[in-house]
Amino acid sequence: MAKKHRGHVAIVGAGVFGAWTAHHLQQEGHKVTLVDAWGPAHSRASSGGESRLTRAAYGKDEIYTRMAMDSLPQWKALSAVSGLPIFIRAGILFFFPTEEPYVRDSIAAHKKFGLPTDVLTQAEMARRFPMIDFDGIRVGLYEPGFGALMARRAVLTLVDRFTKAGGKYTKGFVQPPSTSGTELHEIELSSGENIQADRFVFAAGPWLPKLFPQVIGPRILPTRQEVFFFAPPAGDRRFAPGAMPGWADFNGGDIFYGFPDLESRGAKFAHDAHGIEVDPDAQSRRPTEAALAEIVAYRDRRFPLLKGAPLTEARVCQYENSSNGDFLIDLHPDWPNVLLLGGGSGHGFKHGPEVGRYAAARLMGSAKPEPRFSLASKAEAHHREVH
Ligand SMILES: Cc1cc2nc3c(=O)[nH]c(=O)nc-3n(C[C@H](O)[C@H](O)[C@H](O)COP(=O)(O)OP(=O)(O)OC[C@H]3O[C@@H](n4cnc5c(N)ncnc54)[C@H](O)[C@@H]3O)c2cc1C
Repeated sequence: MAKKHRGHVAIVGAGVFGAWTAHHLQQEGHKVTLVDAWGPAHSRASSGGESRLTRAAYGKDEIYTRMAMDSLPQWKALSAVSGLPIFIRAGILFFFPTEEPYVRDSIAAHKKFGLPTDVLTQAEMARRFPMIDFDGIRVGLYEPGFGALMARRAVLTLVDRFTKAGGKYTKGFVQPPSTSGTELHEIELSSGENIQADRFVFAAGPWLPKLFPQVIGPRILPTRQEVFFFAPPAGDRRFAPGAMPGWADFNGGDIFYGFPDLESRGAKFAHDAHGIEVDPDAQSRRPTEAALAEIVAYRDRRFPLLKGAPLTEARVCQYENSSNGDFLIDLHPDWPNVLLLGGGSGHGFKHGPEVGRYAAARLMGSAKPEPRFSLASKAEAHHREVH
């Protein structure tokens, strides 16, 4: 017998946050309509990339260690039912020039939660991962249970399963909402259609400030991020997942990160530093020569076996940064039936399942407000490194 529906929720934005929220609300028996202007994990969405790291090392930010840990089985379950893998257990290696507090705090958190972690010396890393030059590095933190999420595939699979289970997905550009009442009752699409619902979730990623210029405005700052892929030498198995981990180089806080040659796309390299502030609609998606030159210089130093490796692909994306790197999962200050969801800040993807679960509960009033996810905790965002 079909579940009796418990009210209609409209969700704006079919990125990783909106899609997982739709999933959890549907599981609880709600009627859900998911709307996106361009499509689930489209090319310009923050969730539209090829791959995203999942890991639990978060220093003293245990809240994210726990969310990453609780999200992982949900990713594995989704991966198990999709035709091609969504989770690839490549292992994640973070390496550092000194044993900084972040390392000690991460080790303590992993111990507390029973997460397997190997603390490696430079010599041990050099033996296990010969494709990386660990010059100047003292300590490594290896998480064998984590790895890569195939981002676009994950969101597409989730939305496909949502519609097959009776959820409604529709393409539509939602106008900034307004009402003179104490609750929002409908949203309007640029086509002139309206969607009426009992509750609403706005999970519009880097576009959230455009939907709520007064309430959110500069509290979320989209920045330009460029990602590059290089072909490993022909027949070389050292860059395959299993041999090579997902990795991040904590080079005095100036972080570079990347992936092995996932699904033969090429080894991925990116600089985590926040780029210039951008408008997600207007920014050019052409990679810059300057960003490519910086990545090639980094690659040649740390991954000398890839010297001269051809560029196979480049992507230009954006982080949607909050002032403190914490997510925004809070009710609208004037409309209690509206949830504002975003601020992934360059590290949100891995947490999608737990963000969606908490967002669904928060919207329905069954989860307590979390101060770190509150609108009030978000000041005007400035460029900030980390994650
Ligand atoms: C280069 C890069 C690397 C990253 N690496 C990692 C990583 O390794 N690990 C990790 O965990 N995270 C990572 N992240 C962060 C992660 O990808 C994001 O935090 C996450 O994808 C944000 O998802 P979202 O659903 O909030 O936003 P989005 O995916 O952008 O989704 C928002 C959706 O809202 C829709 N929308 C907006 N306005 C409207 C409107 N008016 N009407 C209708 N629809 C609308 C958009 O079309 C879009 O599809 C990375 C991000 C980038 C850019």
